[in-house]
Amino acid sequence: MGYRKFNADNLFDGYLLHDNNKVLVTDENGKIYDIVPLADAGDGIEKMKGILSPGLINCHCHLELSHLKDVIPPHTGLIEFLCSVVTKRGFDPAIIQQKIKEAELEMYNNGIMAIGDIGNTADTAFVKSKSKLYWQNFVEVLGFTDEKAVENIKHYKAVVNELEKKNLTNNQRSNLVPHAPYSISPKTFELINKETEGKIISIHNQEHPAEDELYKTGGGDYLKLFKIFGIEKTPFPVTGKSSLQSCLPYFNRQQTIFLIHNTYMPEEDILFAKEYAEKNNLSLIWCLCVNANLYIENKVPPVELFMKHNLPIVLGTDSYSSNWQLSIVKEIQSIHQYFPAISLETILQWATINGAKALQWDHNFGSFEKNKTPGVVVISSDLSESKRIL
Ligand SMILES: [Zn+2]
Repeated sequence: MGYRKFNADNLFDGYLLHDNNKVLVTDENGKIYDIVPLADAGDGIEKMKGILSPGLINCHCHLELSHLKDVIPPHTGLIEFLCSVVTKRGFDPAIIQQKIKEAELEMYNNGIMAIGDIGNTADTAFVKSKSKLYWQNFVEVLGFTDEKAVENIKHYKAVVNELEKKNLTNNQRSNLVPHAPYSISPKTFELINKETEGKIISIHNQEHPAEDELYKTGGGDYLKLFKIFGIEKTPFPVTGKSSLQSCLPYFNRQQTIFLIHNTYMPEEDILFAKEYAEKNNLSLIWCLCVNANLYIENKVPPVELFMKHNLPIVLGTDSYSSNWQLSIVKEIQSIHQYFPAISLETILQWATINGAKALQWDHNFGSFEKNKTPGVVVISSDLSESKRIL
């Protein structure tokens, strides 16, 4: 079998950002053979502009909402946004399928290898059954009240089964996850905890200040969302604590939990979460979806705080209902722009090896290490686009 050799302005290997003096050597299928100095690489080198990188990892997406592209305008604020999502989801199934297909292809072409993908339905099962990408399917439970919790979980387990039945390429995992503290009743949380021992799960966390208000006082803007479902007052216990401090303790079964967004997360909650996770054998992953935060709230999360506490950070695009594109490189670009003090090398780690480790697919993805087939991507130097080479 022949080799392919790649050289660019920079080479990022999943950990370190090198200059133009390194050459990546792979076999024809993209399996990593070596990284060698340019002087030792011989001839037949494919030269390109930009940064060579392992394939990118998108830790938070909602592929099934791809038909909502350009439907909800930017900067509505989260509560208005959520009200729009729940009232505007009904589309022609053929359009839904077409948009899912286009979004999957977009991610394939821009060099994403693996995705943590939220779905309330099995609408994405057909496209995923033919996809070359890897999918951690987070079947997202919505369950505002305790009364229907058992039958609700049954319903979502059927969605898990549907996805598993169509997992023909064996590149998918599917399990239940809670949506958010403002949509999951105590009994629903307890049932999800029981169903997810040792699994990777996720929860949207502190995307809006009203989430804390809801648990601290029982009031606030989320009551507007509940009204759509005919619920007049908060269905959740008023604990006097933040939403995270109220809900994280429902989990104690060695789960890996992706905390998504964390836009309004105070330092005391970071300390609480770290301590609770350590005592209860949970592993927490901190997922940033900066462009979605800018789209919905025009606000960015306290990224320096997460770095101060050495938290494992990963990146996600969120869905087409709240992003201009499904591109991890565009997320890198925004973080680089809003947090110029954070090195590009660090942000690239979040987009590659950290994501691969968090999704437990780092045996093959996330870095240019011998015998992995992590994908080879070239990122433009201005971080505006990325393209899959292998
Ligand atoms: Zn989301």
